[in-house]
Amino acid sequence: MGTVVDAVNQEVNGSLPTEKKVKVVFVLGGPGSGKGTQCTNIVEHFGFTHLSAGDLLREEIKSGSENGTMIQNMIKEGKIVPSEVTVKLLQRAMQESDNDKFLIDGFPRNEENRAAFENVTGIVPEFVLFFDCSEEEMERRLLGRNQGRVDDNIETIRKRFNVFVESSLPVIEHYRSREKVHVIDAGKPIEDVFKTVKNIFMTA
Ligand code: UDP
Ligand code: MG
Repeated sequence: MGTVVDAVNQEVNGSLPTEKKVKVVFVLGGPGSGKGTQCTNIVEHFGFTHLSAGDLLREEIKSGSENGTMIQNMIKEGKIVPSEVTVKLLQRAMQESDNDKFLIDGFPRNEENRAAFENVTGIVPEFVLFFDCSEEEMERRLLGRNQGRVDDNIETIRKRFNVFVESSLPVIEHYRSREKVHVIDAGKPIEDVFKTVKNIFMTA
């Protein structure tokens, strides 16, 4: 099977059998802003496939991969795993899927992630959702959910907030300057947030 970038090139050249042209939406926002929850709703209503970068990394740890220990340590510290690892996981997931519409949740987390993804896959997102939520509310949600995650403790949460502000906000800024960002007030109840999200997908 060819890579996603092969598929896109084939489409452009028209000389080889067309594989698929994929449509990607990045779903960004701080930890606990509701990305995963809203992605589940979007999948139900709009037929996308949900790819959570964090979930793919956690699966990679469980699979006993040679990178597992490194990934686990980085997640525990709230640090960003090297782009090479994450981009490969995302690319593989897109290749293995029959769908051509993907919600990429929690990625790219820094400028290097963003550049690596675009260079390797040749994919530019259709648009970006930014779930905007106060740290107080995000902290409340993270401490209130009991998913057994090694990073949902107050010490790691503080580190994740710092990484988000320092490394991830610049990615949102990059796309904002290209008029690709839809900012969503994510501090409201799930159903209210989804109303806003639904409108974006219906008019996009
Ligand atoms: N992570 C990463 N790269 C990614 C996505 C996640 O390194 O592209 C790591 C990072 O350590 C992050 C953790 O996985 O803090 C959990 O990410 P997830 O998106 O699951 O949770 P969130 O912080 O958005 O609630
Ligand atoms: Mg998540």
